[in-house]
Amino acid sequence: MTAVLLAEDDEAIAAPLSRALGREGYDVTIEQTGPAALEQALAGGYDLLILDLGLPGIDGLEVCRQVRAHSSELAVLMLTARTDEVDFVVGLDAGADDYVGKPFRLAELMARVRALLRRRGGGEGSVVEVGGIRLEPAARRVLVNGTEIALANKEYELLRVLLEHAGHVVSRDTILAEVWGGVDLRGSKTLDMHMSWLRRKIGDEGPIAKRRITTIRGVGFRINTD
Ligand code: CA
Repeated sequence: MTAVLLAEDDEAIAAPLSRALGREGYDVTIEQTGPAALEQALAGGYDLLILDLGLPGIDGLEVCRQVRAHSSELAVLMLTARTDEVDFVVGLDAGADDYVGKPFRLAELMARVRALLRRRGGGEGSVVEVGGIRLEPAARRVLVNGTEIALANKEYELLRVLLEHAGHVVSRDTILAEVWGGVDLRGSKTLDMHMSWLRRKIGDEGPIAKRRITTIRGVGFRINTD
């Protein structure tokens, strides 16, 4: 299980963010001060540190520097209300891998978290296979029961996102953020159209109870593992 250390002293940000991370299957630990976050991070066992820049005790920049002095493996995503470029550069200099300005949309932040973990974990090239569906990222190829099928770009990305969270519900917002980037398509039928094209191509159009991809109405989609 992917372990995330969330260092954020603002409860109004930490609570919903922690819930969102938990829903996506991450194991989350919250620390509210710089010294506590640093101690946890150095204790090890975490894959990602989400680090608020303005923490009491020791600020996020210093936490980041000290973490980097001891470990190059922990991914660090910095959060800050200060969005000017100076802070951005200083944050990256301190060893952060990425940077999100407050306020942020949860779906956007989750997409950044996944992208970061993929980059750090080298997961981009790893093959995912669920049931009879096999996705080979290096070859950008999809096989269904051993037969290669041709997917358009968005259909491929859609399938990739679902497979990466196989067995878990992926929210519509998350899918839109990951597959369509910053374009605001909430309320549009784009996602549903692509989902129906994807279903057709992977042969997932039988009785609803037997479908590989389950629609959770108003929430999102889940690709089933059995
Ligand atoms: Ca703060």
